Amino acid sequence: MPPEAARFPDRLWRVRQSLLTDDLEALLFLDMRNIRYLTGFTGSDGVFLLERHQSLLMVDGRYTTQAGMEARGIGVFQYREKLAGIAEVIADKAMRAVGFEAAALSFETYGKLKEKVPATNLRPLGEELVNIRAIKDAGEVALLRTAATMASRALIATRELIRPGMEENEVALELEYRMRQNGSTGASFPIIVAAGANSALPHATPGTRKLAPGDALVIDYGAVVAGYHSDETCTFVLGEASGRFTEVYEIVKTAHDRALAAVKAGVTCAEIDHLTRDCIEQAGLGRFFSHGTGHGVGLDVHEPPRIAPSSQAVLAAGMVVTIEPGVYLPGEWGIRIEDMVLVREHDCEVLTGTPKNLTIL
Ligand code: ZN
Ligand code: ZN
Repeated sequence: MPPEAARFPDRLWRVRQSLLTDDLEALLFLDMRNIRYLTGFTGSDGVFLLERHQSLLMVDGRYTTQAGMEARGIGVFQYREKLAGIAEVIADKAMRAVGFEAAALSFETYGKLKEKVPATNLRPLGEELVNIRAIKDAGEVALLRTAATMASRALIATRELIRPGMEENEVALELEYRMRQNGSTGASFPIIVAAGANSALPHATPGTRKLAPGDALVIDYGAVVAGYHSDETCTFVLGEASGRFTEVYEIVKTAHDRALAAVKAGVTCAEIDHLTRDCIEQAGLGRFFSHGTGHGVGLDVHEPPRIAPSSQAVLAAGMVVTIEPGVYLPGEWGIRIEDMVLVREHDCEVLTGTPKNLTIL
């Protein structure tokens, strides 16, 4: 068994312990990230049924061989049509109560499944499931660290090429090329390269805008290693930064640094959010900070915990989260500073590697 495969039985044990109650015989997983996390299967479609003493990975014919190779020690069932396959297995085992991932099954599909297994109580699970991947084990942390380092190295190399006259698109392409050259299987998400007024849109799409002297340049990007994502944002300036830009940059940087200094096990996510928000509000810029302070990162770019004013989550050692305050002045420019950090017992370790002091290109 490859060393990483040893982790899957532990994960299955943990989920069984916490979620399989006396009156719930099995859990039906449909979210492919959760299926990958629990079984090691990396295909793009399938269903995983977890029972107390056994488990079954259901796939279509494209994935039968791959499922057998990747999901060690787990039975594989091949279906022609997914819902019919699930219904056949549930009916065969005469299951009375099965929990399912409410967020991964549409209302329409649920209705169709319910019709096929009228005797089974299908119970939606929400909150109970969302946190199963929040705390990372050592192997996952190693992959996240590698992805973050790989991405930062690519950005530091790309930074040298950035000149006025280049299009946002070209910068994104150069960056993705270098990440892949370093071993990334792709970009974590479509890279954001936003120059000038575009940088005031928190989720701008790179276009044909040409970089001009004095432009703010927001780059939000990440690499992927064995399914694990990195996430980092840098804001640069071309040529010369105005006094106002430098002043706001320092405010966002202070908000970011304060949060980083406070991140450790036991602190609530709402408290971390309050630290960045308070700093930006004190400067009179509160209404221009229009999103949460951060989020968990792993097999998904955005996963629990959420670091936002209304978040109920508490940080725990082993979580990997982003800290990304920003200020966006519509029609002018925007600034976001984002690092990805590993929560530890008494502090945090920054995994992303690009320096965050104001950098003029
Ligand atoms: Zn980001
Ligand atoms: Zn992020």
